[in-house]
Amino acid sequence: MENFIKYLEQEHDILLIKGSHHSCQAVDVAVVNTGDGDFLVVQGTGEKDFYGAKRRFSGHPLLTCELSVANAQALMHYFPYLKPSSIPEQSLSFGFGDRLGRATLGHLKAVMQFEVFPVLAQQSMRELSLTNRTYDDVLSSAVFDVLKAGYMDGFAADGDHLKTIPQIELAIDAGFNMITLDCSEHIHNQATDYSESELEAHFSALASETKDHYLANYLNREIPSLGIIDKVELFRTVLTFHEAIMHAIQCYKFIMSRDRKIHFELSMDETPHTTSPIAHFIIVNELLKNDVNLFSFAPRFHGQFEKGIDYIGHIDTFARTFEQHQQIVNHFDSYKLSVHSGSDKFSVMPIIGKIAGGSFHIKTAGTSWLEAVRLVAIKDPNLYRKMHEIALSRIDKARMYYNVSLDMERIPPIKLMNDAYLPNYMNLPDARQALHITYGLILETESVHRAFFELLDHEITFYSELLKAHLSQHMRFLGAHSRT
Ligand code: ZN
Repeated sequence: MENFIKYLEQEHDILLIKGSHHSCQAVDVAVVNTGDGDFLVVQGTGEKDFYGAKRRFSGHPLLTCELSVANAQALMHYFPYLKPSSIPEQSLSFGFGDRLGRATLGHLKAVMQFEVFPVLAQQSMRELSLTNRTYDDVLSSAVFDVLKAGYMDGFAADGDHLKTIPQIELAIDAGFNMITLDCSEHIHNQATDYSESELEAHFSALASETKDHYLANYLNREIPSLGIIDKVELFRTVLTFHEAIMHAIQCYKFIMSRDRKIHFELSMDETPHTTSPIAHFIIVNELLKNDVNLFSFAPRFHGQFEKGIDYIGHIDTFARTFEQHQQIVNHFDSYKLSVHSGSDKFSVMPIIGKIAGGSFHIKTAGTSWLEAVRLVAIKDPNLYRKMHEIALSRIDKARMYYNVSLDMERIPPIKLMNDAYLPNYMNLPDARQALHITYGLILETESVHRAFFELLDHEITFYSELLKAHLSQHMRFLGAHSRT
């Protein structure tokens, strides 16, 4: 098999992807670009598990395969480091959404410079339906990118913001090993506005064992550094979160029934109210008492974590309350905080890094799409103009899905701008948000979709470099250590 790589290197009509040659006892594999896209070339006794056709390289026939789900599964079988693996405890784990299936290579280039553990293939159901993909597609495209990057230090895969057991089942069956449960539909936000007498009335209407349980365990209990839980705070927390806690326990039991090592995150970031540290304490304590092995908890932090732009809010209050959440984490010492919509939050990243030390989880997604938009603005101004116009004309529809503070008046009219200016739109918060939340609608337009992916595939190296620079910046701000 030692000739395998020589045959590929000596073939003039193709480009061998550097770093993609991996070898084990049964097979040699590598990815080549033939001009018609990327293909996996395989040689060895394991060939029987791959699906493809023979094609000649330097005169020698080699099995050449599409980057399909079935071939990704065969790769995972022969190369265990291409399969999602456990996230080390006490690590800075970094979640990367790759909506387009083109960003993971750039993400890994950033990861390879820092001591962070990547969570790839991070996708919510909303993102799957907006991009018309399946969990199988998302995971296999991450697997091929891990192969191409020559990255062998392990990664996890996150079924993000899942709400129901059937959704969790889809992600687990596809091979995902992190599940983020979004229980926002079971959170009763109206309790935030109840008066004291309303709180009393609603609490007394609960089942007596529920009432007794919470009263016995929490009323007047002193929580280190947070103070004493009084009746109002307890009733409000129970009325807001009890059903969500029950739902989380039920979902976790289902996950356990699958008998696989799954990292379980509970997320409450997509709710209208900030999660109080006392609520955090009670929620997590209830989960742990019910044998839920929590990997991470994503409260809704103080301030606005809007997609693709910097933090909006009072930074000192954020720092103080983030510290309180971290103290609760330190008290239980068995899970970590998770920061969602972490992209571009440069003003608070150093605070997060400092307070949480080296152990927290952060998620990013849309920022990788925005780097692709930046690439379009640099390389194909006419295509950018089309995308920009679609974004602005369909903004009302997109606002039904996303809660953003963008003000259209602050986006300079594109008709007045010359081509050289266009990349600057990706430095303006309002334009970033407009292009961020409309990505599904932009890609719905057939001609734009085709031109966009053609350009991205053609410029994939440039795209990877843009992502490497942008996400390395995130890691640096978060205090990640360089790999030595
Ligand atoms: Zn989230």
